Parts: sequence; structure tokens; C-alpha cells
Amino acid sequence: MTDLTDIKSFSLKELEEELSAKYSLPKFRARQVYKWLTLGVSTFDEMTDISKELRNNLSKSYYISVAIIEKKLISVYDKTVKYLFRFNDGEFVESVVMHYHHGDTICISTQVGCKMGCTFCATGKSGFSRNLLPSEMLSQIQAAQKDLGIRISNIVLMGMGEPLDNYDNVVKFLRIVSSEESLNIGMRHISLSTCGLVNKIYELEKENFQLTLSVSLHAPNNEIRSRTMPVNKKYPIEDLLKACRHYANVTGRRISFEYAMISGVNDSNACAEELAKKLKGILCHVNLIPVNEVEGTGYKKSKTERQKAFINILGKVGITATVRRTLGSDINASCGQLRRNTITAKNLSV
Ligand code: SAH
Ligand code: SF4
Repeated sequence: MTDLTDIKSFSLKELEEELSAKYSLPKFRARQVYKWLTLGVSTFDEMTDISKELRNNLSKSYYISVAIIEKKLISVYDKTVKYLFRFNDGEFVESVVMHYHHGDTICISTQVGCKMGCTFCATGKSGFSRNLLPSEMLSQIQAAQKDLGIRISNIVLMGMGEPLDNYDNVVKFLRIVSSEESLNIGMRHISLSTCGLVNKIYELEKENFQLTLSVSLHAPNNEIRSRTMPVNKKYPIEDLLKACRHYANVTGRRISFEYAMISGVNDSNACAEELAKKLKGILCHVNLIPVNEVEGTGYKKSKTERQKAFINILGKVGITATVRRTLGSDINASCGQLRRNTITAKNLSV
């Protein structure tokens, strides 16, 4: 596989140029191939309106990235589906499909593991293996659509990995998935979540995407944030909020701040007051998430009464905050746990 080129990471224009240069193929042939790739075929032989000779040639130069279902869990409460996918090289990632009133939403991974080491996160605890290719992000959506027989209308980049730490591949994926000739999922139906890589937020701002930027804040000051999110030591909260303010002003898009409430760590009234003061004037919304209790972290969910206090205190400065509805609570255990358990199980069996 290694000396073959990843054909699904091309945009249509790139594929047209590639196939024209390599085989002198007209554009309409490239469009035929692209249509099959968008439909999610896993072999060139499935491209039935392409000649056998060309299919053979293509398979000698290219490979088609696929996401194979290794495990699948379905929530008995709300039919949320969690997948553990395996890629061509045997690496695993997780994706989750949630059924909302406004459409089916998929949460995809952007890396195998993560380098950022947030103390509350299951993915962060397993270390980093590699970046995902644009094709592999696309494959997660295609595999879920095929398996469930649905058309996914919204994407959140909130699975395993830090999207802005895999910037080029993520931006390429966003351009492909939102293009008419690919899955045609508009940027307004896409959210990207980051732990706060400030330099990359400024870069993303320049792309002029109409997506929703979610920022995982989880603390109102450097002292608490650096303890739970090591990235804060490199990009302190003042710099992060300055970048967020700038992003919202330039793009006109509301920032969504994620705040996982951890009992006794970041959920006091003083924390809420400090948060309100720092976010005041930023075009934003705050998502309060009862922290998912990941084994080995010792963190516990905040009480409901703490969530109400935050909503009130933030509301006083005009910031809307809501508690995120937990879907798939019976199968969940935040992203990263399924892979972690599988890998641990495999390690035990050898
Ligand atoms: N790396 C990116 C996106 C993937 S994580 C980021 O950190 O934003 C997706 C979201 O899940 C982030 O908001 C992250 O902070 C949150 N998260 C991770 N572990 C969690 C846990 N145990 N409980 C609640 N939220 C968690
Ligand atoms: Fe990485 Fe996001 Fe988990 Fe932090 S919360 S370790 S950035 S995946």
C-alpha cells in the first residue's frame, strides 16, 4: 500500500489534472471515477462504467482508503451509534452518529490519538499515533452512511485528535466534503473543535470558512487551565481569548466555548464570575458539559445546581449558556475509550 497514492484525498480538480497528466484521460472520465469515490466504493472493480483496463491501471498506482467497522454500539435510549473504525494500516479511530431534530450528525476523528494530553480526556491518555488523511475523515462519514442507510447532514470535528494540529489535512478535507461534487455538506453544517492552538486559529480565520468554531476552554484562568490542559502553558488564556475575539469579529461567526464541569475543579461561583468577566463582549455561546468520568482521572461530574449557577452568572453579562444534552449515555464514555479498551484488550491477549 505504501507506494500507492491515496486517490480519495484529491479534489475533483486535482483528480482531473492527475489523470489527464498520467493517462491523458478527458475530464469526464475523472468525474466518473470521482463519483464512485464519493459513493464510497472500496475497490476499483466496483466502478462499473470504467473500462477494465483503466480499472487495472488505476489499481496499480492508487489505493482507496476505507474505514472498516471493527465494533459498533447502539444506544437503547436514543439510537446514538458509536463506531470503532479500522483503516488500511490497521489503526483505529472512533466516530459517533447522533440523531437530532435538525438532522443526522456525525462526530469524526481527525487523528489517531492526540498529543495534547488534557488530563480529563480518554484520547489524551492514550498518546499519539498519526494524523488522519483527508480521505480517512471522508471514509468515516461514508462508512456510517452506508451502514445506517442515511444521509448525514452535519459534521462535528470533535472525535479523537486535535484538528488544528493536523491543519493541512483537515482544511483539505473541509474543502472536499463541502464541495458540490463530493458529499456537499455545507460549511454552515460543520463545527470544528480545538483545544486552543492560537497560531492556527488566526490561520483558520483567513480561510474564510463559514463553519462554527468550538473552543474547549474548560477553565476561567491560567492556573486551573494549565493544570488540566497542558496546551495552556504554550498559549495562555489571554492570548486564546484575544484570538477568539478577533476570529468572531472578522468572520461574524459566533464562537462556541466548551466548558466541561468538573466537581471541585472549575465549577465554583468564583470560576463562573471570572469566566463571565473574560468572555464579556465576545460574540459567543457557552456549552456546559457535565464531565465524562474517564477511568483513572479521578474527576467527577458537577452537581446540577452548579450548572444552574453558571447559567445565571453568565446570563448577567449577556452570555447565553446551555447544558449540552448527553446522547448515548449508555454507550458513551467519551471518545477515545472504545479504542483504548480495544488496544488494552489486544495487548493483554499477546
Ligand atoms: N481536540 C479537540 C477536539 C476533540 S475533543 C478539542 O479538544 O477541542 C472534543 C471535545 O470533548 C472537547 O471539547 C474536549 O475538551 C471534550 N472532552 C474530552 N474529554 C472529555 C470528558 N472526559 N468529558 C467531557 N468532555 C470531554
Ligand atoms: Fe486532545 Fe481534545 Fe482530548 Fe485534549 S480534549 S487530549 S486536545 S482530543
